[in-house]
Amino acid sequence: MALRAQKIALHPTEEQVEAFNLHVQFARAAYNAAHADWNADRRNSLYDLKKIFNSRKREVFPEFAACSQNAGKNAIHSFGDAIARYKSGQNGAPKRKTHKSAPAFQIDNGVNTVKMTEDGKHVVLPIIGNVRLHEPPRWTGEVRRAFVKRIAHRWYLSILVDVDVPEPPDTSALPAAGCDVGISALATMDDGTVYENPRALRVNERKLRRANKALARKTFLSRNWWKAKERLARLHARIANVRTDAHHQVTHRILQGISALGIESLTVKGLMKNRKLSKALADASLGGFLVKLKYKAVWRGIRIVSADKFWPSTQRCSSCGDVKRGEFKLTLKDREYHCGICGLVEDRDVNAAINLRQLASSTEESQNACGDAVTPTLVGWHQNPRVRGRSRKPLTEQRLVDFAQVSR
Ligand SMILES: [Zn+2]
Repeated sequence: MALRAQKIALHPTEEQVEAFNLHVQFARAAYNAAHADWNADRRNSLYDLKKIFNSRKREVFPEFAACSQNAGKNAIHSFGDAIARYKSGQNGAPKRKTHKSAPAFQIDNGVNTVKMTEDGKHVVLPIIGNVRLHEPPRWTGEVRRAFVKRIAHRWYLSILVDVDVPEPPDTSALPAAGCDVGISALATMDDGTVYENPRALRVNERKLRRANKALARKTFLSRNWWKAKERLARLHARIANVRTDAHHQVTHRILQGISALGIESLTVKGLMKNRKLSKALADASLGGFLVKLKYKAVWRGIRIVSADKFWPSTQRCSSCGDVKRGEFKLTLKDREYHCGICGLVEDRDVNAAINLRQLASSTEESQNACGDAVTPTLVGWHQNPRVRGRSRKPLTEQRLVDFAQVSR
């Protein structure tokens, strides 16, 4: 059993939208009530907070009497989670929800209390009733949790489903591949296939500027201000959608017909500190891309072999294994790799991708009889840059394995 999530767009009627909005307010009010009760006396447990809220809700919040009580209860539960994170030191103290908080509420009352209709066209929500789904749910199984939320103008149902997962297919007969992830192209494969980056933010930068300016010129909270605000929110949502869609399509294509994939372990956080790169990087959202690549690989029985941070995938010749050092190093401007030893001329990213493929396939051969992946052995010399500069040995295939961090 495993949990799978899906976000499905909804087509609610006008009355249902009204009900959604009321539930959002109810969830927020319950959360804030629990917040106030906890701040009044921090010895209150989650159970106490729920009891206090339930004893008072009828007189304090008569306007929410028609709402499903699940929305309020779940909001207090999520406040309990926030407290747990606060106590473990993961977060700061929880803050009150305001009109700026994400418009969302959790509607289920435990396992399988929210169900889809037989034909898969509607979801049956407590109190609110049957709401039409934009597409049928992808997973069948027990619905563990169900959330309703709004992003820009659209309402969504987010479900967490407990599904029986079939064993991933046996891919051992298939070849390995390498993939160089970057900004100019989202992914470059070892066979030369290039997946472009949609650069959703950059394409829509002018539109965003205009929408932001339009909003700033309107009278705050006026009718036209709300209209301008929605236009801006829709644009932001569209940018995010274009990006996610590209990620899903590219990761799907990359993971066809392979057994292992070599990638670089990117330190996006570190790269974001570079001001010249940070905007383009954030637009590419490489972190999100790698997350999708990794979970899809697990589903399809594909090993992801991520190269160590110091693995010179760009500087190594994919043909003879020579590594460029010092003044001979490729800079960001050099788009082609010229090898001075064997004369190889190759596109910079393709060369890196081939290196990563060799890394992925070399770890495959060194798997032991039980099929367990080898534990990555991190040799000391390449972790220390000073010592690294002194090494003259070319990185041959036998030594590639030292750099591999095998997932799964
Ligand atoms: Zn060479």
